[in-house]
Amino acid sequence: MTTHSPDIPAPVLVLVPGVTDAPTDGDARFHVADETAPQLAVTDLVATRGDGVFETIGAFDGVPVNVIPHLERLARSAAMVDLPAPDLETLVEAVEAAIFAHEPVSELSVRVMYTRGIEGAGTPTCWIHARVSDDWAPYRTGMRVAVLDRGLSTTSARTSPWLLPGAKTLSYAVNMAAVREAKRRGAADVLFVASDGYVLEGPTSTLLVRRGDEFLTTPVSAGVLAGTSVRSLSDHLEAERGTGVREQLMTIEDVTGSDGAWLLSSTRLAAPITHLDEAELPVDRALTARFQQVLTGAI
Ligand code: PLP
Repeated sequence: MTTHSPDIPAPVLVLVPGVTDAPTDGDARFHVADETAPQLAVTDLVATRGDGVFETIGAFDGVPVNVIPHLERLARSAAMVDLPAPDLETLVEAVEAAIFAHEPVSELSVRVMYTRGIEGAGTPTCWIHARVSDDWAPYRTGMRVAVLDRGLSTTSARTSPWLLPGAKTLSYAVNMAAVREAKRRGAADVLFVASDGYVLEGPTSTLLVRRGDEFLTTPVSAGVLAGTSVRSLSDHLEAERGTGVREQLMTIEDVTGSDGAWLLSSTRLAAPITHLDEAELPVDRALTARFQQVLTGAI
């Protein structure tokens, strides 16, 4: 049994037993469940092996952003770990149901969890959990970021795909350990660097770098997650200036010598990097504010 602060609206849980089934008339493919009651078996392979994939979708004033790109990425992650293809139509409806069942709030974080299920059963487990987003305001004004070695090269996606670079798996313990290390170093977040010296991504975010009129990000082929936020900003910049965000391998010096850099994600939005280790970076507040509007779906 969990308890929540009386000031914060209660989270909503939607179980999705029909995640891999084609829509049928009789069976409920998903249903709202008691969020405070135990729901997950201790033998679910996500509990014993971290074996599953997930997505986190941001919803702003009740409207989710990039639902289809998130669910398509979930399907790609699922394919990378040989999970059956999830039924995206069912998931779209289940996400909508979770948001609808939640009290109206300005920022909701909607997690879609898809696991290998109970050991031996061969049936995946899936649920949606919608809760008030963490308070990202301090990050959105600017944050210190520590550079940490990921210990993998930018060729790992090609040479060692079993390490699952670029998949959004439920084995995020390493990512969370990296954030704790950054905090020990007095920073708020992390920029991973590859063993061959190129910068990659944050533990839960995509790198965006500005060089003059150019906007650059790490190539997905370097083993980073294909971000939905960077895609949204790229589409916006392309519509506005004719050029979107370009993929390019960058060194730490490319970032420290840039005209600004951000870590992007669906719930945090655009968080400007004020310092990369000890190097100070310029912060464009007006541009950051516009990026945040784009990422909430406001423009
Ligand atoms: N990279 C990693 C490793 C992530 O976990 C995330 C999001 O959680 C991102 C990038 C940003 O992805 P998106 O912009 O789709 O939220």
